[in-house]
Parts: sequence; C-alpha cells; structure tokens
Amino acid sequence: STPAAVTSALSSASKRGVLVKGGAALEQIGRIQQIAFDKTGTLTQGVPAVTSVVSFIDDEAKVLQLAASIEQTSNHPLATAILAHAELKSVALLAVSNDQTLAGLGVQGEVQLGGSAQLIKLLAPHHMTAQLAELAHVRTVIEDLENGGNTTVVVLQDEQVIGLVALADSIRDDARQAVEQLQKLGINTVMLTGDNRRTAKVIADSLGMEFRAELLPEDKSRIVGELSQDKDTAMVGDGINDAPAMKSASLGIAMGGGTDVALEAADVALMHNRLIELPQMVELGQATLTNIK
Ligand code: ADP
Ligand code: MG
Repeated sequence: STPAAVTSALSSASKRGVLVKGGAALEQIGRIQQIAFDKTGTLTQGVPAVTSVVSFIDDEAKVLQLAASIEQTSNHPLATAILAHAELKSVALLAVSNDQTLAGLGVQGEVQLGGSAQLIKLLAPHHMTAQLAELAHVRTVIEDLENGGNTTVVVLQDEQVIGLVALADSIRDDARQAVEQLQKLGINTVMLTGDNRRTAKVIADSLGMEFRAELLPEDKSRIVGELSQDKDTAMVGDGINDAPAMKSASLGIAMGGGTDVALEAADVALMHNRLIELPQMVELGQATLTNIK
C-alpha cells in the first residue's frame, strides 16, 4: 500500500499542475542531484523569430526565398520562424523536391531556378567548419551574430554560401529563478543543446548554469546516460528528439506544452510549463523520502 506521505505529496503536486507518474517517480525526484535541460522549448520559449537575413550575393530577397522554400519541408521551430518571416515579407515560395531532413544539422532540397535544378542546403555553421575555413568574412558575420545570442543558419546554393538567416528565441521568464533555487538545493544544472557554442554560452551564462553545445540528438542521450551513472540525474525536455535522453536519465521530465512523444517518455510532466515548479518538486520529493523512512 502507498504510504500516506506519498499520496498527499502526489495530490499537492497535481494541484500545482505537476503530473507525477507514481510514488516511485516522486521518491526519485527526492534523490535527484543533477538536472540536465534541453535548451529550445525548455529553457527558452521555443518560438524563435528571424532577427536578420544576410546576403553575400547582394540579393536578400532571394536568400530568404530559397531558405523559406526549403523550410516548407521541415517542422522544426526554426523552419516555422523562417516561413513566418517570408510571409511577412510577401516572398513567393518555390516548389521543392528530393527534400531531406538532417536531424540536428539542418535541411536540404532541390528547387528549379532558371531552368535547372539547384541543390539548396540550410546548415548549422558548426557542422561546416571545413567549408567556412576559407570564408573569413562569412565567419566574422556568423560569430558576431552568435555572440549576440542569435542562432544562425547558413544558406548554400549548389555548395556556395549565399547568405545567412539569424534567429533568436527568448528565455522563459522563470528559468533564471528556477535554476538559482535548484542550485541552492544543491542540484547541479547543465544545459544541453544542438545549437552552436557561442549562442549556447550567451544563454547559459545569463542563467548561471553549465552547458554542452553542438550536440546531435544521440549525443544528448549518451551524455545524459553518463551523467546518470555519476549522479542521480533528471532530464527536462519538450521535443521528440529529447525522448531518448529522457529515457537514459534517472528521471525524465517533460514540458506539458511539448510533444506527445516527450510526454509519454517522461516520469513527470510540468503541465503548465512552469520551470519554477522544479525546485518545489525537489523539496517535496526530499520531504517525502524523509517522511516514509
Ligand atoms: P536544440 O538542441 O536547440 O533543440 P536541434 O538539435 O533541434 O537544436 O538543432 C540543432 C541545430 O541544427 C540548430 O541550431 C540549427 O542550426 C540546425 N537545424 C536543425 N534543423 C534545422 C532546420 N529545419 N532549419 C535550419 N537549421 C536547422
Ligand atoms: Mg527542445
């Protein structure tokens, strides 16, 4: 039978919009020593917006048109933002064929331009360091944008860099306070992201937490597995890509507004997307462990 302390803690969590899937999950929260957070959609709102379009071919409209056309084939938050920006600028989209999603890297496809098929790629700059090595001016623009907290996407037409799209996402209002309170409870906090190192650093520094950047989805789940061997570790995420990492963790926590796949993989769900519930839950879990001893 379930101890009264557990039943009462589960009901008080659910009143605050935190769904804990059973007594074992609640006790596990009380043992957590470390929390790994996904960045996009978890620490940030997950609704990026385009901050600038840069052209190296003196045709900004064309860079945006090609980027947005390819993003029609993706459901990534960056794709949604680029498509919204194209609509705002009344850019006509081109038909795309042979499209391919490169998870954690970007997206590509073919469009018909001037009677021939052109391969258009949108890539994260950190996955094309060799190509960018000779393009000092492009690298400088990217680094400046990233140091300002932007995520940049490189636009290539037939392997030539023709431009950049910069995007930014806002940090959730309660993220700073949640991280601070967790640290006061002795919980180590680390951000995991597929985004580039510079953008990640701007966000992690503003939250006062550790970070690991430029990770592929499989890297995230491997790192969470390693962290969990060392200390009892929770993983908080919102996306389909986060589910494997949540399963590799000692405890998986999903944002309620995230995807169903993440919600299913989780032991705990923050139904109102309030990160500030995390320190509260840790305290509740710790108190429950004490009470049932
Ligand atoms: P995060 O860890 O922030 O959720 P992802 O793993 O989803 O990031 O993506 C990592 C990086 O891959 C992005 O920052 C972006 O540079 C690139 N990327 C992924 N998907 C797309 C896309 N559809 N369009 C442009 N860039 C993309
Ligand atoms: Mg995410």
